[in-house]
Order: sequence, then structure tokens, then C-alpha cells
Amino acid sequence: MKNFPVPRGTNDILPSEIPLWLNVESKARHLLRTYGYQEIRTPLFEETELFARSMGETSDVVQKQMLNLAASHREDAEKTTSASLSLRPESTAAVVRSYIQHHFDQKENLTKLFYIGPMFRGERPQKGRLRQFHQIGVEAIGPESSLAYLDAEVISLSVHLLRSLGLKNFRLKLNTLGSPDDKKEFSRQLREELRNKISDLCEDCQGRFERNVFRILDCKNKTCREIVSRINIGHSYLSQESQVYYVQVKEALESLGIVFEESFNLVRGLDYYTHTVFEITDSSLGSQDALGAGGRYNNLVSQLGGPQADAVGFALGVERILLAMAPDGVIQEAPLTVYMIAMNEESYRKAFEILHLFRGQGISADMNYRLASMKSQMRSANKIGARYVAILGEEELRQNAVTVKDMTSGTQETIAVENLTKVFKEKNFVIHNHE
Ligand code: AMP
Repeated sequence: MKNFPVPRGTNDILPSEIPLWLNVESKARHLLRTYGYQEIRTPLFEETELFARSMGETSDVVQKQMLNLAASHREDAEKTTSASLSLRPESTAAVVRSYIQHHFDQKENLTKLFYIGPMFRGERPQKGRLRQFHQIGVEAIGPESSLAYLDAEVISLSVHLLRSLGLKNFRLKLNTLGSPDDKKEFSRQLREELRNKISDLCEDCQGRFERNVFRILDCKNKTCREIVSRINIGHSYLSQESQVYYVQVKEALESLGIVFEESFNLVRGLDYYTHTVFEITDSSLGSQDALGAGGRYNNLVSQLGGPQADAVGFALGVERILLAMAPDGVIQEAPLTVYMIAMNEESYRKAFEILHLFRGQGISADMNYRLASMKSQMRSANKIGARYVAILGEEELRQNAVTVKDMTSGTQETIAVENLTKVFKEKNFVIHNHE
């Protein structure tokens, strides 16, 4: 018989891991709201062209990693349109698409949005590199968003978020690409520096030389790295204005006490970035060491047919955050508060009613749906990880009470049914609220 394992590069997130995910997601949501960001949820797929136009036809993601929905061609062919659809490899373009479509610019001068969700890239899977992974990201977009303080806010938010999750050993790298004109000058200078070394570059980089010369700067090949380390352009491509902006960003970060390292080689492989770019790495992650990255993208909104609006954002990888987090970073909540145990046929109906009572009050409860021995039911309660068991036998039924046993301390007490949910609430057993 054929087996159906999970597709390569994807993971089931199992019940035992869910508390770790909820911890990250709820802390992130809380902090993002503290900074004035509101959640947005866009579809998991968009027109392929949206990604190609925003990230750039020559970016690695668009060239090699798009997961195309083949069926969409067929369906659209009937309607004589030919929109090709792809699973989203990232969310910036989708958020900008939504910003334009819903005329956010007419409602406010600055729109601050965040998202949490899965992204898809057809990469060769390895540790820390998946085909379905999750990102937490923000985008601050608006006609009045070109302010160095906003760059600093977005960067400090990403640092704050990682710290609030208990991460300490990460490094923040910062650079600026300048305006689109500066960027052109930067690529011109890079090509000039590299022109007589093309034949020494790896095969990929030889292709990148014309297509997307910036990508050579983050090639992992040893020879390419050596060549890159000898490039000495500094920030000579920057206009006076861009230089002033960069200094303002750095000063704003310093005023917040954010420690950063300047990295002239940090360029990010996507077309839409302008001015500030940053990346956060953690060496404990091995070769895929980027926890997240972001920067400013001042022309994307208008490039995608929207109004003139500048923007800045970041995306952090949830799987990599979880890999870098200390294993004891989360206090594991008991998966279940009460496990009901009915001792005989007569008590079963009452137990079922009490089960309903607990749940109605927001106290998580479960039971064995088939009558079994006390021993076997206790075993089930243990297996589930119930915090308490509530036992209902003949004697309890007569008294209209239950015997509640604390599974950690082993102590037990008999509580009248009418007081049951009150007692549980007073003891602060309530409970499954992750917000
Ligand atoms: P990027 O847009 O490629 O800079 O991605 C931002 C962050 O998302 C990275 O720093 C990683 O933490 C995470 N990420 C990107 N691609 C993957 C992937 N294939 N698997 C797991 N995490 C990823």
C-alpha cells in the first residue's frame, strides 16, 4: 500500500508543539498591538505577476522558488484571462496589494499592519529551510512614512519581539542602499569592481553579474566571499540626502539603545528595497542563520499601481525563532483541566452533565466515553495530562458531589456539584485563554 508522508519541506505541527507556537504568536500579537500595528490576513495565493513585479523577475525567489498553482491556468483559460496564481513566498507584496485595493491611503497618512501566517517557497529543504514556513511581519505604509524614526521603530520592534521571546544572542546588521538612483550607481560600481574577476566567480554568480549583481554579495561560495571581502566601495554611491537619512536612522536607533553592526555587504536580494535594510542573525542556527530581515521600500506601492506612498517593514521566521529559543522557554500549561471519571452506569449520565457544566464555564474537561475500570480511566487522565480528575461513584451520586483529585499533589477533596465550577474558578483554574 502506498504511504502518504507529509510533503517534503513541510511539517505537521503536532498538539505537543502547539503551546510553543501559541506562546510565540500571542506574545507577538500583544507586542505588535502595543506598537500600534493592526492585523491583516490576505489570501495564501495571489497572481504570480504580483510577486514577480514586486520582488523582481531576477530575484532568486521569483526565478527558482515560486510554487505555481497549475490548475489556475485551466480555470482561467475558460474565462479567457490568463492569470497565473502562486502560493505566496512572502507577504509584503500581498499587503501592499491590499493597501491599494482598499484605499488605505485615503483613510490615514500612515497605515501600520502586521501578519502572521504560512509562506511557501520551492526550496531544497534542509535544517531551517522549508517549503512551507511561517512568518511574523509588519508593514508601515503611507504618504508620510518616510521618517527615520519609523525605520528605527520597525527595527527596534523586531529586536523587542525577539527579546520578549527570550532570545539574546542575535546580531542586528544594518545598511542603506540609498534612493533608486543611488542603487543604480551602487550596482554600476559593483560591476566595475567585479568585471575583471568574473571568471573566478562561481557559476551562479557569473549569471548574477548581469542579472542581479547585488546577489553576489551574499553568495556562500568561498571564492566569491573572498572576492567580495576585497570590494571597497563603502557608501560612495550615496547621495548627500540619502546619507543624511541613514545617519538619522542610526541616531534614532542609538537613542533607543539598539545595538547594531554596519554591514556594507548587506543588500537583500529583492528589487523593492531602497534606503534602510537590516537583517537579524543568530549563529546558533547554523548555515541558515537569518532570523529575519526587512527594510524600506519607497516605490513599491506606486509600482504596483497605487498612490505615492513610502513604506518600511520586516519579516521574522517563526520556525527559526523556535529553533533558537531555549527549550524551557515556555511554561507548559496542562492540556486539560479536568478529566471526569464515572464509576458505574448510574453515575455516567450525571458525569456527562457535569462535563457539560465545566465546559460551559470555560473550564476544559473531557471524559472516557465508554465505561471502564477506575484504573484504566486514571491511566487515560494521566496520558492526556489532566491537571485534576473529578470522580463520580455511588457515594458521590448520593451526596450530589464529586471527588476532585489534584494529579500533581495527589490530594483530594469532595465538592458539592452546585459549588463545583465556583470552586474551580476561585482556585484560578480558568484557563484556556492564550490572548
Ligand atoms: P526573507 O524574506 O527570505 O528574508 O525571509 C525572512 C525570514 O523568513 C528569514 O530570515 C527566515 O527566518 C524566514 N525564512 C525565509 N525562507 C525560509 C524557509 N525556506 N524556511 C524557513 N524559514 C524561512
